[in-house]
Amino acid sequence: SSLLDRIERLDGDINSFISITRDRALSAADAADQARAKGESRPLAGLPLAIKDIFCTQGIRTSCGSKMLDNFQAPYNATVVEKLEAAGMISLGKTNMDEFAMGSSNENSFYGPVKNPWDRTAVPGGSSGGSAAAVAAGFAPAALGTDTGGSIRQPAAFCGITGLKPTYGRVSRYGMIAFASSLDQGGPMARSAEDCAHLLGAIAGHDLRDSTSVARVVPDYLAELDTPLAGLKIGLPKEYFGDGLDAEVESAIRDAIKVYESLGAKVCEVSLPHTHLAVPAYYVIAPAEASSNLSRYDGVRFGHRCENPVDLEDLYKRSRAEGFGDEVKRRILIGTHTLSEGFFDAYYRKAQQVRRLIRQDFMDAFEEVDVLMGPAAPTPAFDLGAKKDPVSMYLQDIYTIAINLAGIPGISVPAGFAGKRPIGLQILGKHFAESQLLNVAHQFQ
Ligand code: GLN
Repeated sequence: SSLLDRIERLDGDINSFISITRDRALSAADAADQARAKGESRPLAGLPLAIKDIFCTQGIRTSCGSKMLDNFQAPYNATVVEKLEAAGMISLGKTNMDEFAMGSSNENSFYGPVKNPWDRTAVPGGSSGGSAAAVAAGFAPAALGTDTGGSIRQPAAFCGITGLKPTYGRVSRYGMIAFASSLDQGGPMARSAEDCAHLLGAIAGHDLRDSTSVARVVPDYLAELDTPLAGLKIGLPKEYFGDGLDAEVESAIRDAIKVYESLGAKVCEVSLPHTHLAVPAYYVIAPAEASSNLSRYDGVRFGHRCENPVDLEDLYKRSRAEGFGDEVKRRILIGTHTLSEGFFDAYYRKAQQVRRLIRQDFMDAFEEVDVLMGPAAPTPAFDLGAKKDPVSMYLQDIYTIAINLAGIPGISVPAGFAGKRPIGLQILGKHFAESQLLNVAHQFQ
């Protein structure tokens, strides 16, 4: 309850929560206390958590940051929510986010922007900006986020916390509102790699309700945290240290790499030659999938419905025009266009071919090295309101989105500051190398 008081006192300014679920949290806390009094031992029982408002929570508003779903109460829980509640964790509320997870600054939310707790004139990153800010502000020790093209790692970097995007398929997407289904993946955001390991262990695993979740044993993610790094081979992709990288970010990342050398790791340069194609390929594939996923918001079955429609066509048109914000509309238009007959081969098919090349770049690099390291974002957190055109916002994602296209895991770890604003070191690994990433991150912390 002291955290709930803290949120109610301080979040008016930061705006990291869309909904605070005080009563539910207090009764879950009582239940956890009673279970503990009866001698039951569940390691996560009683620990508070914040949940990105993209995860369905039964009987609680699940808005996805959109006016479209402002009135939507999910009739069921997402698998990850179910798992965390079964582990005894206590959800404090639902966190702010860019509408339908489209954005890199949390400024695309129907519920208003979130301020970065380290510097309230800066953005917290996005789209999981509310989750990152809630952890950084000490409102919750951990949070759930989602990452379609960087939305866990970039806000973690901007807010000075640790955020892990798992391998595609490691965590169930059931009950996670879909943006781009072949890229979306939920994951933990917390103050340390160790806390992320606890949370990942609780949410990972096969789910019969998500056909892309992978039937593979969930390892004990804590087991390897203390493995020494002597002999670890670290690759630095030269494309991640080129033009456009802020000098303070670069020097913080180079300092972090020196720390790894002092721990016995070997560092070499590698190349990911198709890096420059990642942003264009992603901004074809993600909107294409989004345009299909978002067609379900028609004003009929759930979500916002316009007043007094004259006919069905009018109902669709006005409900969607009123319910979606500008960025979401832009993506639906782009996606509908690139999927349309006559343009499909030139855009969508081409982008899928490029995706294959990008994935191959990583596979080739991992023949030579164990992990890759670089910055999570080209700059520290930028000022609220600073990026006015969509393309400059999309360029925020140059170091994060190739990872989603390849399906590999990535983690962002705090690695210093530029003035008051945190900088994140990104560490990338092979498919299902989460234990190794957590180990490498933990040794730095
Ligand atoms: N910034 C990217 C976008 O706007 C990624 C978002 C995400 O990972 N959900 O699409």
